[in-house]
Amino acid sequence: MSVIGELLRHRARLSPDVEAVVSPTKRMTYREYNGIVNKLAHYLLQLQVQKGDRVALICKNSHHFPIIYMAAAKIGAVTVPINWRLKTDGIRYILEDCTPKVLFYDGEFDQVAPLLGKFPFIQQEIRMDIEEDDSFLEKLVEGYPDEEPQVDVIGEDPAVIIYTSGTTGRSKGVVCTHTNMYAASIANTATLEWRYRDRFLVVSPLFHISGMIIPVCALVRGLTMVVNDQFHPIQIWDLLNAERINIMFSVPSMLNYMYESLKHQDADVPTLRMIICGGAKVPAELIRGMYDFGYHVVQVYGATEYAGAATFWLPEYGIETCESAGKAVYLTEMKIVDPTTGEALPPGEIGEVVLRGPLMFAGYWNMEKATQEVIRNGWYHTRDAGWMDENGLLYVVDRLRDMIITSGENVFPAQVESVINQLEEVAESAVVGVAHPVWGELARAYVVLKEGSSITEEEIITHVRRHLPDHYLHEVVFAEELPKNSMGKVMKYVLRQHANQQQQAQ
Ligand code: ATP
Repeated sequence: MSVIGELLRHRARLSPDVEAVVSPTKRMTYREYNGIVNKLAHYLLQLQVQKGDRVALICKNSHHFPIIYMAAAKIGAVTVPINWRLKTDGIRYILEDCTPKVLFYDGEFDQVAPLLGKFPFIQQEIRMDIEEDDSFLEKLVEGYPDEEPQVDVIGEDPAVIIYTSGTTGRSKGVVCTHTNMYAASIANTATLEWRYRDRFLVVSPLFHISGMIIPVCALVRGLTMVVNDQFHPIQIWDLLNAERINIMFSVPSMLNYMYESLKHQDADVPTLRMIICGGAKVPAELIRGMYDFGYHVVQVYGATEYAGAATFWLPEYGIETCESAGKAVYLTEMKIVDPTTGEALPPGEIGEVVLRGPLMFAGYWNMEKATQEVIRNGWYHTRDAGWMDENGLLYVVDRLRDMIITSGENVFPAQVESVINQLEEVAESAVVGVAHPVWGELARAYVVLKEGSSITEEEIITHVRRHLPDHYLHEVVFAEELPKNSMGKVMKYVLRQHANQQQQAQ
């Protein structure tokens, strides 16, 4: 019963006239949504798509996205949403890795063109020109039955493969089963105050786990999903009002734009109860600032490997605790362990965050060894450093993989970066360890200055040493920009390679 297709069938039975999906050009009730999903499922069956086959999807946020996802789920096919910001090589890597049978893609993505017709495993490439024809899917499935397809899907069957952003190296396919997605939707809806018929705005990409889980949560709670591929910091307020939005998901940069726009304009959205924000640490001053404007930000900490949210920080925990990432979600156990011995650490001590529960992914696609490295004794090892207080509130410190060990002492780059970023002249910074024969590693900051600003290496180091121990920063390298992946996260391994190559050349 706990499989995605069944959830849709039940929701359509219970709430046929409730709006299910709203896009700028389409509005669909649950009855209509389930109908077209079923037709597309039959279309896929006729293409010989079988249980376990992959269906890849390169698509901006539109009503097409959840329809394809649900149709694949109904017949036990595995949806592989691909980040449309990737270049041709990035997309090729994913297609070759997951070998889909069908590829749906938006016609506007030129980077897909060189790959078309190149892979024997893809039996059908389906081009969608949403801008020109928003009824494309309706026409494609015309004449197919809207009855439920008869495929026996079970909880352990894979539902999605989501490729990680590659912040720390090669991108990996995270396999989440129907049970994982179901458990995650229960965990989210049981932890947060989401009500039947709430209207949920999805402007951040659906292709991330934070997006892929929303259509499932919508089924469990009976929500209306309002999908849009445009985020505009000023017009967003009009959209929120026009669609009477109650909940939205954002990433920190988006939230920051919204906060800045509130400083210059009045924007009152009485229906909006919560803005969920995560993917990276949400600065406490941003949460406080929005709170002062009357908007409640819920911080989420999570990972693709944990089907999205592992913790939520809620304003009800007290605004004074908003540096925290919050408490573990429903159905989840969390502990802090010594990364070397694996032993549980007491409150207040920094160690690795580990998680356990039915949300934990099944493994990386075709990467048994990498899976065993992160799932040990039934716990998912996040490779994030953090500590918990007596009340179970988690404080994420940094990625464990980024920690620098200099003369036996641990340095967490995030702490140094936040001190450097206080400087008026600095646009952004990233701190990495450079190998050193005596000290093990030395901390080096890559600093990007704001346009027209100037500051010396010495001034930055003096500023940091006023706030942190001397060994937290050894040298500064000025850069035009920082290497970032498609999610906008800094790829520190590229900086480390750069630093160590320079070191060897000296
Ligand atoms: P890759 O696995 O390829 O390196 P990634 O780690 O960025 O990519 P994601 O699943 O996109 O993979 O991101 C999960 C990670 O993002 C977490 O492990 C954590 O390091 C970071 N993160 C997410 N939310 C928060 C948050 N609220 N506070 C601090 N860190 C966060």
